[in-house]
Amino acid sequence: MSKIFNNVMSPKSSLHHLFELIFEHSLREQEIVEVDPDLENLTSKSDVILDFVKYCCKKLDIVGKPVVKITGDREKEGIITTAHYNIPKSEIAVYAKGRYLPDVLRSIAHELVHMSQHEKGELEKHPMQHIGGYLEDDANARAGALVKAYGLVDSNKKIFTEARGGRSGS
Ligand SMILES: [Zn+2]
Repeated sequence: MSKIFNNVMSPKSSLHHLFELIFEHSLREQEIVEVDPDLENLTSKSDVILDFVKYCCKKLDIVGKPVVKITGDREKEGIITTAHYNIPKSEIAVYAKGRYLPDVLRSIAHELVHMSQHEKGELEKHPMQHIGGYLEDDANARAGALVKAYGLVDSNKKIFTEARGGRSGS
């Protein structure tokens, strides 16, 4: 199979790239969380973040398995505001430098709502606006609710009580 790809398409072919993305997406069997090692306050939280991602996927009936990148470098991930969602790659990038864990989780949940909107075909039905509009209002409302609901589970209450780790030691 891979031999055919190599022979027929040049590496720069966009069609080849599309195949690669579809292939990558269909092969992924679980959610992945990557935390930028520069974010010292969050590197120890990757398990909590992964648990939250799984929680959201279940609550939002998301079928795909997202990759969630938590980064301290906006430019590297092409983030304009605080987060973005790459639809074909099912990849969510969140800028997290100096942010509290619940804020970061809210951004993740917001983008996961966009992923569920995409899976339900809603992204195509509504105009995408950066501020306001159905898609944004829906994402903001549900993201807030998801963080609250997750934090109400006893074992998860620590997400609100822990101090901003990056500053606690200095
Ligand atoms: Zn949004």
